[in-house]
Amino acid sequence: MSTNKEYISQNKAAAKRLYNITPFTLLDYPGKIACILWFAGCNMRCVYCYNPDIVLGKGNINYSEALAFIQSRKHLLEGVVLSGGECTLHKGIAALILEIRKLGMLIKIDTNGSNPPMLNILLRKGLVDYVALDFKATPEKFFDMTRSTLFNGFESTLSLLINSTVDFEVRTTVHAELLSEEDLKWMVTFLEEKGYKGTYYIQYYINNTRTLMDLNYSVQRINFEALSTPDIRIVVRK
Ligand code: SF4
Repeated sequence: MSTNKEYISQNKAAAKRLYNITPFTLLDYPGKIACILWFAGCNMRCVYCYNPDIVLGKGNINYSEALAFIQSRKHLLEGVVLSGGECTLHKGIAALILEIRKLGMLIKIDTNGSNPPMLNILLRKGLVDYVALDFKATPEKFFDMTRSTLFNGFESTLSLLINSTVDFEVRTTVHAELLSEEDLKWMVTFLEEKGYKGTYYIQYYINNTRTLMDLNYSVQRINFEALSTPDIRIVVRK
């Protein structure tokens, strides 16, 4: 698309950064009809990751092709989810969002929270309408869960979002052998102390799914809702 050239350099537009596109979803952007752009690559290696091909694979689709797709569906869609992998790591993402916005789309970002400088840029430019932030684990378990040392980035991203006006959610995937009830209590307290108020989504680990590492069958025994506080309502997302 010729208009991209104004904002996205030829190199950035030509690089194939997207692994795939889900053309239609009613589940991934709360209350919106959306498509999903799956960005290839991630700076974490979560043991339960459901998207090993996306995390370890290379991109197949460039920004221009993605914009052309959205253009072709713009009358059917309300929003675009930027997911992955970790979308905030990719060059030209702000320019890409600017172009998507011109097509009348709302923008949701799925992030592991590891790149607060980029998220800050997107927030300051008003380019994001909704953020889903993964809260992977306690600091003690963060490396075992993600094979990364990026907890501090997550913490900064959380503070950024709490101090912004953008709608966002915090969510945690729980495998029974990886996070205990004590861990979850600590994580709720941490959110409270940071000043988070709202819903905290718990997602059960999905058994019998291909993940980055082989995990044992997970049987949840925690009454998550009982860990809710006056400020934080825990909702199990099924
Ligand atoms: S689950 Fe972890 S490894 Fe998989 S995409 Fe998300 S942050 Fe990356």
